[in-house]
Order: sequence, then structure tokens, then C-alpha cells
Amino acid sequence: MNPTIALECIDCGRVFVPADERLVCPDHDGVGGILDVQYDQSGAHDAIEAGIGDGIDDLWKYAPLLPTDGHAVDLGAGGTPLLDAPTLSRELGVTVRLKDERGNPTGSIKDRASAVLTSRALAGDESVLTCASTGNAAASLAGYAARTGLDCCIFVPADVPEGKAVQPLVYGADVYAVDGDYDDAFSLCRRVAANREWYDCSAAVNPYAVEGLRTVGHELAEQSRASVPDWIVYPMGNGCGLAATWKGFREFAELGIVEECPRLLGVQAEGATAIHDRFTGEPARADGGETQADSIDVGHPHNAQKACRALEDSGGATVVVSDREILDAERTLGRTEGIYAEPASAATLAGLESAVEAGVVAPGDSATLVVTGTGLKDTASARDLVDGVDHVPDTPAAVPDPE
Ligand SMILES: *Cc1c(COP(=O)(O)O)cnc(C)c1O
Ligand SMILES: [Zn+2]
Repeated sequence: MNPTIALECIDCGRVFVPADERLVCPDHDGVGGILDVQYDQSGAHDAIEAGIGDGIDDLWKYAPLLPTDGHAVDLGAGGTPLLDAPTLSRELGVTVRLKDERGNPTGSIKDRASAVLTSRALAGDESVLTCASTGNAAASLAGYAARTGLDCCIFVPADVPEGKAVQPLVYGADVYAVDGDYDDAFSLCRRVAANREWYDCSAAVNPYAVEGLRTVGHELAEQSRASVPDWIVYPMGNGCGLAATWKGFREFAELGIVEECPRLLGVQAEGATAIHDRFTGEPARADGGETQADSIDVGHPHNAQKACRALEDSGGATVVVSDREILDAERTLGRTEGIYAEPASAATLAGLESAVEAGVVAPGDSATLVVTGTGLKDTASARDLVDGVDHVPDTPAAVPDPE
């Protein structure tokens, strides 16, 4: 059964039926007119409720809530662990847990979106998939396209980290590095997709990306129903992931699976603060700079409105952190908990530290950080954080004890 009933424009409220196959509302220019997928879930409640607490193999556990018409491309996305973080908790005076998305099939949370997008592509008889991406979404879509046998053509900014460019190539995708930033890659992707009738899977415009991502909210609700955290901390680029987390969690609150909802703490980097600026009403920063946290280096986020709405609904807050703080946090996550995350993911820890300092998060609160992606794709950005290896002669006595 397909539970999708309507797609509603989040700007003007105009409603489309799924058969329109529209990605955006035509009544807006620029970054407006994003759609929100709405469901009739009454038929799904019993099946979902019956499975709560039985363990989560992957995101297809929530298939009755997903708009995939019975298709389910299976590469193992979702079903990720929610880990305690005892050392960090002690150091911060806040009970920290980590929703560890690094174990997804291509190494990031984007696989939740790709699983649903490729399943829809099969349902809709699409033949060529495309997206613009800061890196992880491209790698993810390419992996899932390979799995489904569909062609894949992706657009990335010219300064994409090496690992994130090689990965989709190994999956057999055509990868185009656009001379410019993410916004330029996005714009070219839109134009080519419109021309050739390719299926544009860019999370910034394809509403079904958020629908897949929202399974992280379902999982967080199911896994923390004994003790809902005060805060969920999420790094914001386009704002899709944060909005999706809220949508999923809130759905499970409405189903009665959890009794309350957390507040959202959305984190941005100093070089890309558009959602923070919009949420707080602070004037946009002139520098419009850059950040080494490439996955959240988005100058003109397309889902700022969905993100701001989620922040508002949850009674949440935003925080901006510097690249220095992000990279320090990357090392701290590794040192304290054995988690090697990419800079965008480590931004959640930097954001939590900053929010604790500012008194936004109170001592004794609990906070779950969404560790959105692995650090292994971008070792170059971590290289400056660590000392080099020590060279030793080939004799045991020359090897010192650990410090
Ligand atoms: C895409 C991504 C983000 C940001 O998600 P948005 O939906 O663009 O806000 C954060 N971290 C990682 C690792 C990502 O791949
Ligand atoms: Zn509209």
C-alpha cells in the first residue's frame, strides 16, 4: 500500500497529488517552493507498533511509513546503534549519546535518503539518476544506483575531498566536478536534469530524500523511548536532515511510541550560517565564506524553511562554531569514544560544547549527537590535528611505553 496522499508546498500551501511527479511548487523562484510529503498512516499504525522494541535490522522496518510503492532497495541502510558516551558525558557534565550513522553502506546518513529515492526511481521507471552534492549524497546515490542497475550522473563542487570523489567513481557513476561551489553544482544539475528528464535526487529539492532521512528520527524515538533526550544535536547544511529527524520523531510521538519530543540543537559552521541567521533573525554574515566541514558548506540552503519550522516546533536553538572548534571536536570524539567522524559530524560536539558554555544546554541535561558520517573519506582535513607517526629503529627496546 502506498500511504502517500499529498505533497504540500511549504511556502504557499498549494497541494499536489503524487501522480503529478512534481519536485517543487512552480509558483516560486530561487530556493522556494519545497514540498512536504504527507501520508494517511492510519493503516500502518498496528504494524509499526507491533514491532517496536524488537530490534532494528535496517530502515525497511518502517516500510509501512515509506512512500516506495512496495519497492525496497536493500543495501543495509539504517539500523544504526545509539551509543553511550561515558567519557564525553563526564567531561561535559551532560549525558551524551551518539547516534552513529557511520556504519551505513556508503559511510553516511545519506544512505537513508538514497534507499527511498532509488526505490521510488524503480517504482517510477526512471532510468538516469542525478544529484548535486557536497560529497556524501553523491557517493551514496552512486552506490545505490549501482545496486539497482540504474545510470548515475553526479555534480560536485571542485574542492570536494578526494575520498568523496573516488568513491562514486568506484560505484561506476559519472562524476562532474563543477568549477565553483555547491550552489553552482546544484544549479547545473537542475538545468541538466530538466533538459534530459533525469531523476533529480538532490536532497535540496527532491522531497522524498527527507522522507528517507526521517527514519533516523523513527530509530531515535524507538531506541530512546525509555529516556528521551533533552536535545538532539544535528549539523545543518541544507537543513534536510534536521527537519527529517524532527518529522520522524514527532510521528512516533503522535503514535504514542514516545511520550515526549526532544528539542533540536542545529549546528552550523562560521563559513555557512544561513539557517542560523534566518532562525535567530541575525543579519546575514557578509563573508559568506567557506568551511572545512564540507558537508555543511552550503551558502544558500534550500530547506532552511523546513529546518526553521522544526527548530521552532521543538523549542530548539541554533549555534555557530568555528572550523578550529570543529576540528578540535573531531579529535575529542576520536580520543574519548573511539569515534572517527568527519568534520560536519564533529560539529555537533563543538556545538554542544558551545551551547553548554552559553547556558543554552544546562548541566545535567541529556543530548544525543547525530554522527552523520565517517572521517575515513577525508583524512586530509584531520592530518593537521595529529602528530605524525614516530619512526623507530627495528629493536624492541627503542619503543617507548604509552604516555
Ligand atoms: C549532508 C550531510 C550533513 C548535512 O545535512 P543537510 O541535510 O544538508 O543539512 C551533515 N553531515 C553529513 C556527514 C552529511 O553528509
Ligand atoms: Zn508554492
